[in-house]
Amino acid sequence: MRNKLIVANWKLNGNIELISNYLDFLKFNLPNNLKDNTIVIVPPFVYLERMSHVVNKMNIFLGAQNVDINLKGAFTGEISVLMLKEIGVKYVIIGHSERRSFHNETNNYIAKKFLLVKNYNLIPILCIGETEQEKRKNQTQKVLKEQLDCIFKTLGELAFRNTVIAYEPIWAIGTGISADPKYVQNIHQFIRNYIEKHDVLSKNITIQYGGSVNSLNIKDFIIQPDIDGFLVGNASLNVQEFLKIIAMCISYFTNE
Ligand code: PEP
Repeated sequence: MRNKLIVANWKLNGNIELISNYLDFLKFNLPNNLKDNTIVIVPPFVYLERMSHVVNKMNIFLGAQNVDINLKGAFTGEISVLMLKEIGVKYVIIGHSERRSFHNETNNYIAKKFLLVKNYNLIPILCIGETEQEKRKNQTQKVLKEQLDCIFKTLGELAFRNTVIAYEPIWAIGTGISADPKYVQNIHQFIRNYIEKHDVLSKNITIQYGGSVNSLNIKDFIIQPDIDGFLVGNASLNVQEFLKIIAMCISYFTNE
């Protein structure tokens, strides 16, 4: 069975008060037995260490929203994979569309980060997805292949072992308009088959969906056979809402 991953990406949000209330609420309400579901919270860098002391005692892992391609040196403003490792971070989001578009991150640059994260035994969550215009022009598969090929070119055929992919159609992120669950299922199947063609053992890779997921629309996604969890932005900032999402995932994925 594939591991199911539910990730809260807080982006540039949160403060000490929110963190304290959030973790308190989870401490008392998160089910003890998450079955095969893994929960990851990805706050801004500055809160990672503070949170690591608390989530250590809970069934929750921490992720980082970004990492630099360098390990150390004169790179003002950057964060190294070694620093993330030192404070107990386990996952790193790579290639989020907001980094691709606001920080001009290219496929090649993202592949370098992916390599570094893997080399240091952290788990990259690679975000891939098409723009609205690319979808309209029927270029979705071409774009996804290019995003994946760059990783294969840098890391070789076994690139995706012990990694996670988040399929995030850019037009669905932060818009409140999620993609059609059947459309997402077809894309996930395409991604899985494409990766499997290179490395048959990667067919069990976890492929999450991200794009305006919330507790009201998640049901139709959970039932799709190739959707293995969610990368949740906006809805994850509200702990009650995030807990509802977790509960629905546990209940469905467990009875699969
Ligand atoms: C995201 O940040 O990756 C995301 C999917 O955001 P939202 O859920 O707000 O669309």
